[in-house]
Formats: sequence, structure tokens, C-alpha cells
Amino acid sequence: MSTSLELQHTVGKTASLSGTSLHTGEKVSLRLHPATVDHGIKFKRKDLPDEPTIDARIDNLKMVERATTIGEGSIRVHTVEHVLAALSAMDVDNAIVEMDANEPPIGDGSAQPYVDLIKKAGVIAQEEARKFFDVREPMHVESKTGALLVLLPCETFRVSCTQAGPNNRFAQFLSMEITPATFEREIAPARTFVYYEDVRPLMEKNLIKGGSLENAIVVRGEAVLSKEPLRFADEFVRHKILDIVGDLALAGRRIRGHVVAVKPGHAANAELARALAREQTRRSAMSGSHAIPIGDAGLDTGEVMKILPHRFPFLMVDRVIGFEGEYKITAVKCVTINEPFFQGHFPGHPVMPGVMQVEAMAQVASLLLFKLTKTTSRIGYFMSADGVKFRKPVFPGDTMFIHAELTRSRGERMAKTKCYCVVNDAVVSEGELMFTFLDK
Ligand SMILES: [Zn+2]
Repeated sequence: MSTSLELQHTVGKTASLSGTSLHTGEKVSLRLHPATVDHGIKFKRKDLPDEPTIDARIDNLKMVERATTIGEGSIRVHTVEHVLAALSAMDVDNAIVEMDANEPPIGDGSAQPYVDLIKKAGVIAQEEARKFFDVREPMHVESKTGALLVLLPCETFRVSCTQAGPNNRFAQFLSMEITPATFEREIAPARTFVYYEDVRPLMEKNLIKGGSLENAIVVRGEAVLSKEPLRFADEFVRHKILDIVGDLALAGRRIRGHVVAVKPGHAANAELARALAREQTRRSAMSGSHAIPIGDAGLDTGEVMKILPHRFPFLMVDRVIGFEGEYKITAVKCVTINEPFFQGHFPGHPVMPGVMQVEAMAQVASLLLFKLTKTTSRIGYFMSADGVKFRKPVFPGDTMFIHAELTRSRGERMAKTKCYCVVNDAVVSEGELMFTFLDK
């Protein structure tokens, strides 16, 4: 099993590769350079003034038609998925991919040239720990075209994929753990394939000027046209796995989880990467500072009680530990066995009632609204709670961090907040709370 103490890696030295780009048909040379810790993968357009770089991150995703395109402003880099798959699967966290065109060389349509390039450059450990995304709960994305991707908890990075062509021709299934060794042997050599019926429209859209039987397999009816014979009987599903690994690399973290994909494509892959990045952002926002500040940064119990009318046993906030701008607040409540509700909920098995967690959310949200309106003459009344979920039990001895974020407000009359209660970095409950303001 991999541990969270795994180190980040980069390439040992610069190595280069040249070839033809698939969509434009132009000559391109690519140089892979080492990069510092936490740099991530960045593409550099050497052919443009000022040599702009583009972060290989899902926020920069621009297009998913046939291939994955990223960009910033008017700068684009097309077909990044094969080089990203190779970098991620071969354990390279940090690198600069410098190119003198808007697309890497297509090579033979597989990730093999990039694996060779990475091996030529070497892979070396760096001094910082690698960042992971641990799948804690199942996530999924589904597209109208029939793609379904499910992400399940797993201690390693696994992909199980079912691919099927038009009329379910060439239905193939493969499941495997992705490591540098399995990727190099089983996945990297698998080439891009296209269905003949899809090729003509692509040519009309000017998308595959550099395409030929040397860098793609063409499937026409039951026939498979390619320069060299199939490298695997199930080469297509292997290439689908390659694309999944490459597209998910845009999430920016190594995944510990099991991807179960049915008829995947770049759009669905990218959508899962986006969901993952969003979940990561949410988790980062959740992990409250554990050094609890005093003074101006927050509000102590006395200050909380000046704002909230609640008193024992109904005051569910010990202290506000911070505000983030105008719209976010984090507070803390230490849950002790002396809470009166534990006596009856339940004798011999004390569990904090869910409604008390919602009460805590409402009180923290009220503190945020107070800061926003800066008046005590109007009071926010708790109107409704939507999407309330209780995910984990809260026990005596738990320190509960309560987060509230203003998501909508209508003048001085109405406000909506998204709230979470977090214990040990895990969300124990959440809900969307609505308030209306009335004069006292
Ligand atoms: Zn591909």
C-alpha cells in the first residue's frame, strides 16, 4: 500500500522528442524539463512571444472534442492527454513540457513515445511529500452520450473500463491497478482508434490534418485498418484507460481510488476531474485551522454571547475562530459528556442529536449575517433547512468545527448559507439554511 509520505518526483534532466502534430499536421519538437516541488505539470509555448505557460489543470480545460485542449486567454495547447497520462502514470509530479507548436507530437497514437522520453530523462525523488486525493465516498458523472464514470474508495489507483463502439461493436473490458510498471507494459503502447464514420466529419472540421494509419487505428465496420497489427486483442479499451489516466491528471493530485468507467470519453473524463477538483477545494476549505486563534481574528465566548441571545444549554458555539472575507465563517464547539442532551440521547450510548448540529449551523450562520448587516436592531430568523445530511455520528470528546458560507442574499431581507459540521477533517453533517431578517 502506498503511504502519504510518498515523495514528489520530477525528471532527472531535459530530454526531447520531435514529430508531427495530429490536428494541424505541423512539425513539432517537445522538450521535457525538470521542475521544482509543487510546480505541477505546465506546458510552455516556445513558439509564441514571451513563451507563455499553461497549467495542466482542469480550470484551464477549453475543449474535449476528440482530444483534450487546455488554454489560458487566447493561448491553447491541444491533445495533452497522452503526455499527461505518461507523466502521471510514470510518477512525474513536476515538469515543464516545452513545445514549439500548439500540440505535442502524436507519435504512433499511443503514450509509448512519452514513456520512452520520461525514461530517457530519468525520474528523481524530490524533498516534498506528494499530494493525494483519497476517495472517501463514491462519486460519479454521467453523460447524455452514455458515458458513466464512478469513483470508489480504494487504497491504490485502479481503473476498470468497459468500451463499446457503435452498435456495441468491439465491446471490451479491462481492469487493472495503474503503476509505472503496469502502465508501461499494458497501457502505454495502446494506440488511438477512430471509427471510419467519425473520420469524415473530423476532416471536414479540419481536425486531423496529421492523421494517418501510422498514428491511429481506423475501424470500418468489422474491419480494423492500421499500419501494424493490433498490439493487444483489446487495444481499444487499453487506449480508453490511457485517456482516462491522462484526463484525470488534470485534477492536479494523485488519485487513490477505483475508477469504474463505462463508454468513457474526454468530456466525461474531464467532468470527473472537475468533480474531483471541486471536492478537493471543498475539503481544503473544511480542514479548519487547529491552532485556535484568540483576539481580533475571531470572537471569544463573551463576544459570541453579545451577538447571540442563546444561553446554556442552547448556545452551540464556543468561539468563532475566523472569518474569511465577508462571506465565510468558522466556529468551534467542543462537545463534552456534560451536554444535557447526552443524558437522554441515548442512555449508555451518547450521540449528539442531528438537530443540535443544525442548531449549531444556524447559530454560526447568524454570527456571519450579523457581521454582514453590522446591526443588532434587525435579527435573522431561521426559515428553512434544505439538503440536510447527517453523515457520521458525533460523540462526547469531539471537537466540532462549524463552517458557514453565504451563498445568496437578497438585499436586507433574505440570506442563504451553506453549512458544514466537521470532526477530524470529515464532514459529519451539512445543510443549506435560509434566513429572513426582521426588526427586533
Ligand atoms: Zn487518446
